[in-house]
Amino acid sequence: MKLIVENETAMEALGGRIARVSGQGALIFLLGDLGAGKTTLVRGLLRQLGHRGKVKSPTYALIEQYEIDNRHIYHLDLYRLTDPEELEYLGIREFREGASICLIEWPQNGAQGVVQPDLTIHIHYENKGRCVEFIENTSVGKKMVDLLQS
Ligand code: ADP
Ligand code: MG
Repeated sequence: MKLIVENETAMEALGGRIARVSGQGALIFLLGDLGAGKTTLVRGLLRQLGHRGKVKSPTYALIEQYEIDNRHIYHLDLYRLTDPEELEYLGIREFREGASICLIEWPQNGAQGVVQPDLTIHIHYENKGRCVEFIENTSVGKKMVDLLQS
């Protein structure tokens, strides 16, 4: 599935829609160049779930964790990851449990082959906006895409 997302507000709204279809929990890979809108989408998702504070980009910290209504949300950005071993120290293999949501920016820098995504979201530049492509990797991801389309 592909969607045209015209601006930042629409990108946050799309993040909100993804939050609403992720009740079962999901591990999501976010692909796209610097400035594509990956963190913007995650911000919309967190706001929809009820997060009121800031959403920091985990570019330097690698990870930001949130707990909302007893639900864990893990937001990773592996842009600066140099040693994939670090992912093991972070406990990446334990993030996909229960209703937890794990969102990984730059997964190609070390997460691929270590964890399996349910959904891969690829953001491309398209004129002044973005084209957002959804690739379902598991039955959980397929259900999410079906719900997004309905
Ligand atoms: P990334 O995490 O992919 O590096 P960010 O979300 O931090 O990107 O930043 C994306 C930038 O692009 C922000 O300035 C944001 O306002 C803008 N942006 C986000 N989504 C869109 C969109 N759909 N169309 C146009 N601009 C967008
Ligand atoms: Mg980012």
